[in-house]
Amino acid sequence: MSNPQYSVIAPVYNEEETLPEFYRQIKETMDSTNESWEIILINDGSRDRSWEIMQELRKNDPRVKILSFAKNFGHQPAVTAGLDFTMGNAVVMIDSDLQDPPSVILDMIVKWKEGYDLVYGVRSERKGETWFKEVTAKLFYRIIFHITDVNIPLDTGDFRLMDRKVVDVLQSMRERHRFIRGMTVWIGFKQAGVEYVREERFAGTTKYPFKKMFKFALDAITSFSYVPLQIATYFGFSIAGLSAIGTLFVVYARLFMINHEFTGQATTLVAVLFLGGIQLITLGIMGEYLGRIYDEVKGRPLYVVRDMQGFEDSHVAETYYRSLKHVQ
Ligand code: UDP
Ligand code: MG
Repeated sequence: MSNPQYSVIAPVYNEEETLPEFYRQIKETMDSTNESWEIILINDGSRDRSWEIMQELRKNDPRVKILSFAKNFGHQPAVTAGLDFTMGNAVVMIDSDLQDPPSVILDMIVKWKEGYDLVYGVRSERKGETWFKEVTAKLFYRIIFHITDVNIPLDTGDFRLMDRKVVDVLQSMRERHRFIRGMTVWIGFKQAGVEYVREERFAGTTKYPFKKMFKFALDAITSFSYVPLQIATYFGFSIAGLSAIGTLFVVYARLFMINHEFTGQATTLVAVLFLGGIQLITLGIMGEYLGRIYDEVKGRPLYVVRDMQGFEDSHVAETYYRSLKHVQ
């Protein structure tokens, strides 16, 4: 069997209400290209009927290929598994909750055919998000943009199309704390954006509560920047500088200013506690990096597959099992 022209990958976590409609829209969009395609759905340890629905979809359409994880590994590992199992010449990553409209894929394909290797979706508008999510997301993308070395475009999600050569490089990047939208940009090649309106969720609620978002933001920052580690250096120099000036002043006052006394334990206490706080924060920041290094060193697989269907003819399943024996 020859490779399909397009692979679409979509992570699924408790999306039973959305899946049939999602598949319908993907099918409609991809069929309209008149080229061959496959869709890989990754069940990220759903607790609802998502996996049963995925199996039904596969029964009716062999272009639907399905994977199931042994437990919930998270969105980024799910997308990574999808990438590992793709065969297409161009690969589209899309959320399965219909927030990324499948019809935008056609615009991405146009850009790809113009010669761009990475076409990412830029959210010109977000519908149905709480103001809190909107503000934190905006802030997050701006911080990331400023303190990282790669120029990650503002307001892009994981919704994007990649040429095979980008996917091949991405597959070789096995870091544990993954910020895929940054990693794809880091790779380089010719890149372009396509604007789209991020829709409301078709059904269900977000699986990214604040805690997960915060962790994701930390992952993004730590995997692309040393700036937090350097903050301690800057703080150290500024405080040491200020203290030196302070010392000179104290000596001067003691020698030449008659009847001048320095009073107040409170002042001393505040100064000491302030510095103590800064030291703890700095330690914490180092801990963030250290923990991530520890995770990398352990070298566990990024995800564990419990079941897969539709990969009988391809080498990818075999590659997966081989990788389990050769995890660095
Ligand atoms: N998702 C997943 N594993 C998770 C959380 C989410 O596979 O642990 C999937 C989810 O089914 C959806 C996509 O990742 O297709 C994006 O998640 P969600 O819509 O909850 O995030 P949001 O759009 O609110 O940022
Ligand atoms: Mg969503």
